[in-house]
Amino acid sequence: MIDEVSVGVDPRPGDRSLPGLVLPGFANTHSHAFHRALRGRTHGRGGTFWTWRDRMYALADKLDPDTYAELATAVYAEMVLAGVTCVGEFHYLHHGPGGARYGDPNAMGEALREAARAAGVRLTLLDTCYLRGGIEVPLEGVQRRFDDHDAESWATRVSRMDDDENFRVAAAVHSVRAVPAEELDVVVEAAVGEDGSPRPLHVHVSEQPAENDACLNAYGCTPTQLLSEHGVLGSATTAVHATHVTEHDIGLLGESETTICVCPTTERDLADGMGPARALADAGAPLTLGTDQHVMVDMLAEGRGLEMHERLRSGQRGRFTVPELVEALAPSGHMALGWPEAGHIQAGALCDLVAIRLDTLRTAGALPDQVLLVAAAGDVDTVVVSGKIVVQGGHHVLLEANGGRGVPERLVHAVGRAWNET
Ligand SMILES: [Zn+2]
Repeated sequence: MIDEVSVGVDPRPGDRSLPGLVLPGFANTHSHAFHRALRGRTHGRGGTFWTWRDRMYALADKLDPDTYAELATAVYAEMVLAGVTCVGEFHYLHHGPGGARYGDPNAMGEALREAARAAGVRLTLLDTCYLRGGIEVPLEGVQRRFDDHDAESWATRVSRMDDDENFRVAAAVHSVRAVPAEELDVVVEAAVGEDGSPRPLHVHVSEQPAENDACLNAYGCTPTQLLSEHGVLGSATTAVHATHVTEHDIGLLGESETTICVCPTTERDLADGMGPARALADAGAPLTLGTDQHVMVDMLAEGRGLEMHERLRSGQRGRFTVPELVEALAPSGHMALGWPEAGHIQAGALCDLVAIRLDTLRTAGALPDQVLLVAAAGDVDTVVVSGKIVVQGGHHVLLEANGGRGVPERLVHAVGRAWNET
């Protein structure tokens, strides 16, 4: 933890200086680790969100706890190299092929715990309730790997996982497509911690217009309205995307102080659209950022995307201030993941730091207070997690210690293995 913050003092002998601009470690609020194996493999013949999803299902069909752990270790290591010190894993690949239970029904979640520990990043497992293939559509094929049959069984399975120093268990509803309205109440109840305080609850909301159409047809209201009626919204809840929301939805999300996780690089890659981020923030919803399907793993690009997409929407610059971008990258993201003790450089906070060089091709000459609008993940020099140096000089020193392989090599191997190519 950080003991003390002093300003304007000279370093003492033995102190370590971090280069460039130092910020609190970044929280990546929305990750599907295995989607990293889709990068650069879904653009053939253009495609749509739904053809992308077919490729994702083909990949999901192949993974087991062993290949998942190897892939997730490399992906989380890529994240730490980009300055991420805490990640929220929206995890729904629960069971074996055909829905067969592993000996430990949480074997896939445990693989993620192990991966995060090896990569030196803190993890909130957002264990996801996923019960239907669409509203009143049963799960079929590979989707049966997601299936806990009902919310009660999902809650029982999740309750068997314990927190540790590096790992916290929380909840997610996949979407209003995947969890019937009457089951939402069970998830909300299960998302409360043993001490009665709410744990983080995440949910995909209105990423695609088709989700809104299905919800309107089945329930006569928008996904946000349905979630509001079932008590899902609130300050411990994060709505992921909120791209196609109405004025009324924006009011409901803002008044309930529901956090919004925006994923700009994914939302443009999948042609989802641009959500009303500024309007949501003005309504009272804290904003956070996620790399989601990992078409790139660069939190600086996500933060910049928040501002740049608003510029394209509005025809105005400066829609978000740099301190607002830092707020989204660090304190708000950590709150949304259930780590309120992280995300600040202040006494008593966890010592998570990211140092961004100011002398690279991209950053040379930039003013420190504007560098977030030009820097990229490759400019991250040093990353400290809980006081331990995990990245130094742009190298993952934890994994590369004692001749360990570098992260690009690990990714090549793990992605090939995930697709059964090696
Ligand atoms: Zn997602």
